[in-house]
Amino acid sequence: MRHGITGKVLRVDLSSEVYSIEEPDEKFYRTYGGGSCFACWYLLRERPARVEPLDPQSPLVFATGPLVGSGIAGDSRFTIGAISPLTGCYGESQAGGWWGPELKRAGYDAILVEGKAERPIYLWIRDGEVQFRDATGLWGKVTGEAQDLIRQEVGHPKARVVLIGPAGENLVRYASVVNNLRHTNGRSGMGAVMGSKNLKAIAVRGTTGISFKDQDTLKRMIKWYANTFKDHPIEKIIHEGGTIGWDVTELNQAGILPTYNFHSGSFEHADEICGHTFHKTYFVEADGCHACPIRCKRVARSTGPYQVDPTYGGPEYETTAAFGSLCGVSNLEAICKAHELCNKYTLDSISTGVTIAFAMECFENGLLTSEDTDGLELRFGNEQAMIQVIEKIAKREGIGDLLAEGSRRAAEKIGGGAQNYAMNVKGLECPMHEPRGKATQALSYALSSIGATHVECPHDWTFELDFSIPDLAELGIFEPVPPLSLDPEKVRRFAYGQMTWNVLNTLGLCIFTVGPGKLLKMSQVAEALNAATGWDTSLWELMKLGERTITIKRLVSAGQGISRSDDRLPDRFFDPLEAGALKGRALDREEFEKALELYYGMMGWNSETGVPTPGKLAELGLGWAIPLLPQQ
Ligand code: SF4
Repeated sequence: MRHGITGKVLRVDLSSEVYSIEEPDEKFYRTYGGGSCFACWYLLRERPARVEPLDPQSPLVFATGPLVGSGIAGDSRFTIGAISPLTGCYGESQAGGWWGPELKRAGYDAILVEGKAERPIYLWIRDGEVQFRDATGLWGKVTGEAQDLIRQEVGHPKARVVLIGPAGENLVRYASVVNNLRHTNGRSGMGAVMGSKNLKAIAVRGTTGISFKDQDTLKRMIKWYANTFKDHPIEKIIHEGGTIGWDVTELNQAGILPTYNFHSGSFEHADEICGHTFHKTYFVEADGCHACPIRCKRVARSTGPYQVDPTYGGPEYETTAAFGSLCGVSNLEAICKAHELCNKYTLDSISTGVTIAFAMECFENGLLTSEDTDGLELRFGNEQAMIQVIEKIAKREGIGDLLAEGSRRAAEKIGGGAQNYAMNVKGLECPMHEPRGKATQALSYALSSIGATHVECPHDWTFELDFSIPDLAELGIFEPVPPLSLDPEKVRRFAYGQMTWNVLNTLGLCIFTVGPGKLLKMSQVAEALNAATGWDTSLWELMKLGERTITIKRLVSAGQGISRSDDRLPDRFFDPLEAGALKGRALDREEFEKALELYYGMMGWNSETGVPTPGKLAELGLGWAIPLLPQQ
C-alpha cells in the first residue's frame, strides 16, 4: 500500500477523449516529489524538443505532492505547469484551496493533459472514474456561473472545480485558473493553455481518503501548529491581517511599495488602500484553504458604485498594489472590483495590473492616445478606465486585444520606446516587490526560469531578523544580512532559500506556513514527510530535491531557447527610485552581474549560457537529461 501518495497519475488525451492510468514506482516519487518537479519531468519527457505554448502537442500538468491532504498547515498547494504563452519558456503557478486534496481523494496525484478537444469539454473525476463531458453550454460563461452549472450537472454541490473563464477561452496570454472561485493559479498564463485545449474545467470528488503512514505523528504536529502559530510574530500578522494587512503600510514606509509603474517606492494614498482601511470598509470575513489555521484570505463586499460580489473572495497584497499604487489608484472599492473581475474572467491580477500600468505610462507620454484606447483617458489614477480596460482585456475588445498580449508584446507593437515602460522579465510581469529595496527579489526576478516571480525565494527580511535565525541555523546560516546587500553571503542565502521554497512547491506546502522565517522549519517538513509516506528522508535529501527542481525547470526553459542573456532585469531598476524612503536608490549593474556570476557558480551552471552543466545534472540524478541539453 502507498502512503502519502495515491501512486497514480492520470494521463488524458483530449483529442481522442481517452485516458489511461500510470503508476510510477516509489523511487520516482521520492526523487521528483510532486508539484513543480513532476510537471517539469513530464514536460521534458513528453513535449517535442521545442514547442509553441498553444500547440495541441504542448502538454499541461496538474500536480499535487505527498503532503497534500495530510492536515499539516498549508497542505493544499498544487502546481499547474506548461510552456507559458506569455514567456515561451517553462511556466507554472501554484494555488491552495481545496482542489488538490480532493484530487488525491479522488484517486490521483497528478493529471497529464495532452492534445486538444474538438469541442469544449470538462473532465469529471469521481473516485477514480473519469468522464469527458460536453462544455459547449459553459463556454463564454464567467467562473461563478460555470461552477454552479457543473456542480448541478454532476449532482455534487461540493465537487471541487478548477476552471477558466472567458479570458482563458480568449487566450489572453496571462489568463489564470481558479478553484472554488477564490484560489488562483495566477502566473504564466496556464488559463490560456487550458483554453487552447478547449478544456473548460476539471471537477473532482473523492470519498476514498488518503492513507498516511504515521497518523499519530501527523496529528501531534497539526495540534502543535494550531496551538503555537499565534505566538509566532509572522504567522500572527498574516492570520490577523491577511497579506493585505501585512504589506501595504510597511512597504510604503520602507519606500518599496511599487508605485506609478515602478517609478516610485511610495504612494501618497497608501493609507486609503492599506489593510487597516480595508478591514474598516469592505472586509466581510476571513477565509482560508484546506486544513490551514492561518486563514490569511480576505473576503470583500460593497454595495457602492462598484458592487463587489463576495463570492469571489477579496484582494490580497499583490492585487491591491498592482491595481492600487502601481496604477496610481486610491479607490479601494475599485481595487476590490478589479479583484472580482480577475477571478470571474480568470486573469492574473499581477500581469493585468502591470500591463495596465504600462499602458497608462504609454498614454501619459503620448505613445497611446484616446483613439487607441477606445476613447478612454487611460491615465494613472483613473480607476474607471482601469476597470473598463480589465473587461476589455478579458474579452479581447479594442485596446484590450493589444493588452491581452502582455506588456512585452504590446510594447513591441506600440514601439517608440514603449519597451522602457514594460516591466517584465522573460515576458512575465514583475510582482509587487521592489528589487531596489529587496535584493533577493532582484535575483528571483532575473534568475527564475519562469520569469519575474516573487515566490522563488524567501524575501530579504527573512535573512535580516534575529527571530528567523533558529530556522536558518539548520541550513548553515547564522547571522543577519541587510536587505540591500547583494554580496556573496546574500547570494548564498538566495540559493539556499530558493531550494527551500522549491521544496515546498514540490511537496504541496504553502510558503506562508512553512520554511525559513515561518513556524514550521524545514527539518520538520522532513519529519512530516516521513510520517506521511513512511520514508526516511532527511533535510539534506529535501535540499537536494529543491536543487533538482530548480535545475529541471531550467532545463525545460533552456530547451525553449532561454539562456543567460534572458536573465536580465528591466532597465528601470538600475535607475534611482524617484520618491519614498529609498529615493535615489538604484541597483548597481556591476554588483548585480557579479551576483549572477556567483549564483551560476554555486548552482553548477555554465556562466556564459546560464544552462546547467552535465556534471551538475549527474550529481542531481538527472544524468538521463544530459542529451537534452541545448547544443553549445
Ligand atoms: S496561509 Fe493562507 S494561502 Fe497559505 S494555506 Fe493558509 S490560508 Fe491558504
